[in-house]
Order: sequence, then C-alpha cells, then structure tokens
Amino acid sequence: MVEPWSIKQIYIDSSLNKSENPLIQNILKNTQNKNIKIELIDHPKEIFDFYLKNGNLFEKDTLLVYRHQGKFISSCPGSDGMVCCQYFVINFGIGCLYDCHYCYLQNFMNQPLMTVFGNIEDLFIEIEKKIKGKNFHFRIGTGEYTDSLALDPILEISPILVEYFAQLENATLELKTKSNHVENLLGLNHQNHTVVSWSINPQKIIEQIEPGTANLEERLIAAKKVQDAGYKLAFHLDPMIYYDNWEDDYKQLLDQLFDTIDTNRIAWISLGTFRYSIGQKEIMQKRFLNDNLTKVEMVQGSDKKFRYFKTIRQEMYAKIKNYIDKKDPKLFSYLCMETQYMWEKIYQFIPQSSKSLDEYFEKRRLYMENSRLFV
Ligand code: SF4
Repeated sequence: MVEPWSIKQIYIDSSLNKSENPLIQNILKNTQNKNIKIELIDHPKEIFDFYLKNGNLFEKDTLLVYRHQGKFISSCPGSDGMVCCQYFVINFGIGCLYDCHYCYLQNFMNQPLMTVFGNIEDLFIEIEKKIKGKNFHFRIGTGEYTDSLALDPILEISPILVEYFAQLENATLELKTKSNHVENLLGLNHQNHTVVSWSINPQKIIEQIEPGTANLEERLIAAKKVQDAGYKLAFHLDPMIYYDNWEDDYKQLLDQLFDTIDTNRIAWISLGTFRYSIGQKEIMQKRFLNDNLTKVEMVQGSDKKFRYFKTIRQEMYAKIKNYIDKKDPKLFSYLCMETQYMWEKIYQFIPQSSKSLDEYFEKRRLYMENSRLFV
C-alpha cells in the first residue's frame, strides 16, 4: 500500500492561523521526524501556477493545504436519467494518493498536486446552515474527490469530523476508503453518527487495477477493528468488473466479507458496475497500457457514461443481490447510478424519487438503532 509518508512536500497557507487550527497542528505533529518538507506560503495561487506549469499531473507527492473560498458541501453528482439517493458530499480536499485505473478523478483533476482545505471551521458553519432545523436525516460523505482516510495518518482529520458529527442530531457521516488507516477512529465518542465504509473488489482485481490501495485482507481487518469500536459499516461493491469467472470471485469476496463482519452492523451495501465518462477511456488507455477494462464493448447511457450492456449488468446485479440476500435477507443493498429499468429487474420496484430511495436508508438506520445493536 502507498503510505502517506511517500509525500515529499507539504505547503501550508500561512493565512490558516497555524497555532489555532487543529488540522495544521495535526500535520505539524504527525510529520515530525518524517522525511517531508513543510513550507509555509503566503500565496497558494503561486504554488498552483507553478505546479500547473511544471508538475506531473499524477505524481501524488505534493500536498497543498490552503484556505478554500468556495462551497464545501454539494449534492452527490448523481447522473442524468439514473435513480439516485439524496446524498451530500463534503469536499475537504481534492486528489488521491492511490491510482485506481477506473478513477474518474483522472478525467476531472487539472492540478498536479493534492489539496486539502484547511479552514475546517468554515466547513462546520456550512454544515450547520444546511442541516439545522430540517426534519430530515442527512447522509454526508467525504470520499468523493479523495479517499477519506488515505492521508489520515498525516491529517488526523477523521477525529475532528467524527466528533463534530457525534453532536449533530440529524446527520450521519460516511468515511469511505480503500485504505486500512483506522487507528485514529478507535476510541472516539462517535455516538453512532459515523459509518465507515470500504469499496471492495476481489484481491485479483485489487492487484490489477487498484494500485496503491490496501489489499483485501488489510481492508477487512481494518473493518473488523472499526466494528469492534462500535461503528456502523458499509461496503461498496463498486465498480464490479466483468470477466471470465467474475461470479466465483465475487461470491468468494462476499464469503470473506461475511466471515469477518457481522451483517447486523452493515448499514448498506451499494452495487455498481464499471462505468466511465466521455474522455476517460482515452486517458486510461494512455496511462495503463495493459489494461483490459476499456477493451470490453460498452454502451452509452442517457447520462453519456459508458457501461456494460444491460444484460451483463442485470446478470451481475441479480446474482450478487441474491447471494447477499441469502446471507442475510435483512441487509439493505441498492444500485448506484443505475437506470429505472435495472431497478425494476433487480428489486422489482422503481424508487419514484431520490426521497423515496432515501426512505430505505432511513428504515435501515432506525432498524439498526432500535435493535439495540449499539450502546
Ligand atoms: S481510492 Fe477512490 S479517489 Fe482514490 S484513486 Fe481510487 S477511485 Fe480514485
């Protein structure tokens, strides 16, 4: 696994008030005696401009912590014409230490350095404005433009977020990762307001197309630790990859998962198949010469993304969903960015709106809380 200690340089925006900012304090503490150069800078834009001119877009060895002027929270981008839930995304940074071949950031990132937004107090103000007084339980995740925990040994941002969400009545935080960096989460007073989730794939697929990430065993051991610390968990079988023998490998993956993790502690499992947007295929082909992902024939959907043919997707979803249901019929699974047609075929109903899909998340949340699985 690529560790955050592979970072060579961290620039910190001097306007972030070093002595009072918990994130900056954490960075300074955690990088002591490490081979990482820390530099305070007055003009983050100059750093952006320098790296835009001179940097390698996928180098991943430089981090810029700066004051973000824009919004921190957005709705999950979803996809036109697809069934989506009401999920919100916190952007605390952009860019990832890992290099999954299918990662959509390749097609989205235009800056050759990873960034973290250091003015976390502004993030909290925005969250409060968003959720305060609303009669709705928000699910808010951080793993959209970065991996939630990959940099946590340096940033130690997870305790700041978990303890903040612990005192919010109507919100659950999701930390989504392919790492095993859970040490900072253990022993926190999380109040069941945080779900820690892993994207998982068969080990063979991890080795081939998820370079830098923790292997499957490391992810599951980390998940077990988090389970033992009383957290709820979630898993994303997304993107599932189609190949000869996919079915055996994915069933084996689920066996490993359910042998390690108590199904009563799983808040949700998402299912999604490999997809890419316009322009991404060319980037992947250029970067990963031996990659078979883009050699399979795909079809373009109403959201302009390319996916496997629907017969393939349907077969994959149906088999995996049946297997999950056999393990525990009470488990809640859902399709991520899929069509109404697919929902109808796999779940025999079509959520009429993102609100109605959200009711299933809420039902599962209340079921877990009322079954006294947590203290
Ligand atoms: S872990 Fe997520 S954000 Fe990081 S490279 Fe993989 S897909 Fe992209």
